Amino acid sequence: MLSPLTFSHITTDNISPLFNKGIEVHILRLDKLHPLISGNKWYKLRYYIEEAIMQRKKGIVTFGGAWSNHILATAAICQANGLRSTGIIRGEEPSEWSLTLLQAKELGMQLVFVSREEYRDKKLPPGCLSNDDYLINEGGYGVPGARGAATIISEYKNDFTHFCCACGTGTMMAGLINASSDQLITGISVMKNNKQLDAQIQTLVDVKNAPSPRWQLLHDYHFGGYAKYEPRLLQFMNDFYRQTGIPSDFVYTGKLFYAVSDLIEKDYFPRNSKILVIHSGGLQGNTSLHKGTLMF
Ligand SMILES: *Cc1c(COP(=O)(O)O)cnc(C)c1O
Repeated sequence: MLSPLTFSHITTDNISPLFNKGIEVHILRLDKLHPLISGNKWYKLRYYIEEAIMQRKKGIVTFGGAWSNHILATAAICQANGLRSTGIIRGEEPSEWSLTLLQAKELGMQLVFVSREEYRDKKLPPGCLSNDDYLINEGGYGVPGARGAATIISEYKNDFTHFCCACGTGTMMAGLINASSDQLITGISVMKNNKQLDAQIQTLVDVKNAPSPRWQLLHDYHFGGYAKYEPRLLQFMNDFYRQTGIPSDFVYTGKLFYAVSDLIEKDYFPRNSKILVIHSGGLQGNTSLHKGTLMF
């Protein structure tokens, strides 16, 4: 069994009054879950960690960038469960480590820096992975990740007609598709032209849902690409915070909230829709921005 981490209570915030469209819009505040184990990462990791413990593994090895929410969450969960953790980090070791990497190290994670080429090929440096280690894909991509992500909406699925989420690897979106029955799911890709995303999600979707018109991926809200942004995105995030009190991150949820607001204005959702937007966390990544850029 997983060691009991202390999680905060998750709420849904009703932001319908922002829009005057005869629809309901609620934000599922997974960002409140835990300061280090951010948002969707706990859900995506839970069954991998359970499996590793069941197989009596001693450590977890996984991949991520210097600001990765997945790396930090993995480090924290491993520490709580008495597992070693190793993070294979994209790019040469920087002269100054990011706050994310410093925190991961503090949590006991061993960090191994690899060149972008090696990282792309998912080549593990010698000695990183022993028989005692359990390997988790970058971003927790895979069937157990989607199975965990499906539990995000266990309590909520009957109350809504639509779910919206941000997509990196698409694992969370696959989980939402599998967990729902007749709701529509809209995914906002945070990468530019990520042509593989559709197939990546399709692979994780249960057969009964496979040839389904129930989900749609949108590729036009990337703001320049992964972890890229434009001033109007930051402006929106500040406005959104001013109006709702809800902070967002510039890599995932800022783009998601922007997209959902834009789609609502364009009448993408029919009248009487009840939309649940997943705030998947990631706020720690904002520390990579200049201080004062965001008002929260
Ligand atoms: C990792 C992450 C995502 C992307 O989840 P995928 O399952 O990889 O699509 C979305 N939002 C936040 C805040 C994340 O950290």
